[in-house]
Amino acid sequence: MVILNRDNRSRFVKVRCPDCENEQIIFEKASSMINCLVCGSIVSKPTGGKAKISAEVIEVFE
Ligand SMILES: [Zn+2]
Repeated sequence: MVILNRDNRSRFVKVRCPDCENEQIIFEKASSMINCLVCGSIVSKPTGGKAKISAEVIEVFE
């Protein structure tokens, strides 16, 4: 996890796993793949500059 920098508009989002409905908070622009902590399903994967979040985003922290 990187240190938050207000200038690059980094945000954290709360997502719900599509497979097991586990909720977890992830970095919106994560540079590595993020798996669900419960079932291991992929919830976010990096695509160049911005992470592609494949889980349902239920809350955004700015
Ligand atoms: Zn899951």
